[in-house]
Amino acid sequence: YALSDDNIRVMRKLGEGSVGTVHKIEYIPRGKIMARKLMAVYPDEANHRQIVRELRLLKQCQSPYIVKYYGAYFSADDDGQSIAICMEYCAGGSLESVYKRVARLNAHIGEGVLGKVAVAMLNGLVHLHTYKVIHRDVKPSNILLTGRGEIKLCDFGVSGELVDSIAQTFVGTSYYMAPERIQGDRYAVQSDIWSLGLSLIEASQNQFPFPPPGHPQLSVIELLEYIIHMPVPGMDPKRFSPDCCDFVRQCLIKDPSLRPTPAQLLKHPFIVASAAKRLDLKSWIEQVWGAKK
Ligand code: ATP
Ligand code: MG
Repeated sequence: YALSDDNIRVMRKLGEGSVGTVHKIEYIPRGKIMARKLMAVYPDEANHRQIVRELRLLKQCQSPYIVKYYGAYFSADDDGQSIAICMEYCAGGSLESVYKRVARLNAHIGEGVLGKVAVAMLNGLVHLHTYKVIHRDVKPSNILLTGRGEIKLCDFGVSGELVDSIAQTFVGTSYYMAPERIQGDRYAVQSDIWSLGLSLIEASQNQFPFPPPGHPQLSVIELLEYIIHMPVPGMDPKRFSPDCCDFVRQCLIKDPSLRPTPAQLLKHPFIVASAAKRLDLKSWIEQVWGAKK
């Protein structure tokens, strides 16, 4: 009963990103609901075997803060070859879809929920780091909520082979990249922390924080230059506590050698307090989506 196109039933499309399409599926032999991400890859058998080997690492990276990985398979049709990655279906959607929904309700996500997001992300990043994995793509669309109100990371960069063989030219330019990444330096665990800080601000104000509101539109290059050279954004001190604002300030320290690591930030007062707080995220996410989801 290996995972394959023959053993699954596609239910509906969940979303589309720059390199793939995600569907809600049923794995028929076990009646199990999953999410499947399809990515077009260049045809190369040896390469594909290497990708599957590398993806096995995902199986070992299980944690309550990481989206469960069930397996991967290759799929070929007239349009070409794809790799299908099957993972836990997260009924609460991504933090991006959640804040956009909240925005349509004319509201904002508050400090309690964002504190829980930060706690989960730091724990997930610390966990990945024990496997020497750096996420490389932390952003609101890669932070998922389950129907039980858990918050989890997905889409981390384990497979160098996979990144190399994705049949697309512009992979890897992201506005969530830390300044050191924009300048072509090596990734460090701290680079993910920068992306987390930006994601928290974005989710708090229902829009990406660069360029600041009121600033004229910028081209891609201008925006990346802006991120490197101009002042960093922060949480609105009128809506968020001094501890919360300080936490995000620490995330957005431009010099990666001065920016704290995920393990260090787990000791920050905002995180310690958020981790201890009781918050019914299951009811919260149900309220956000209403009865229909
Ligand atoms: P990018 O391609 O730029 O990284 P992205 O993260 O939005 O953007 P995908 O990773 O392909 O692109 O995901 C597309 C969308 O599918 C996500 O935005 C999310 O809303 C949804 N999605 C992804 N994985 C799951 C999952 N496991 N459960 C539920 N929804 C998911
Ligand atoms: Mg994604």
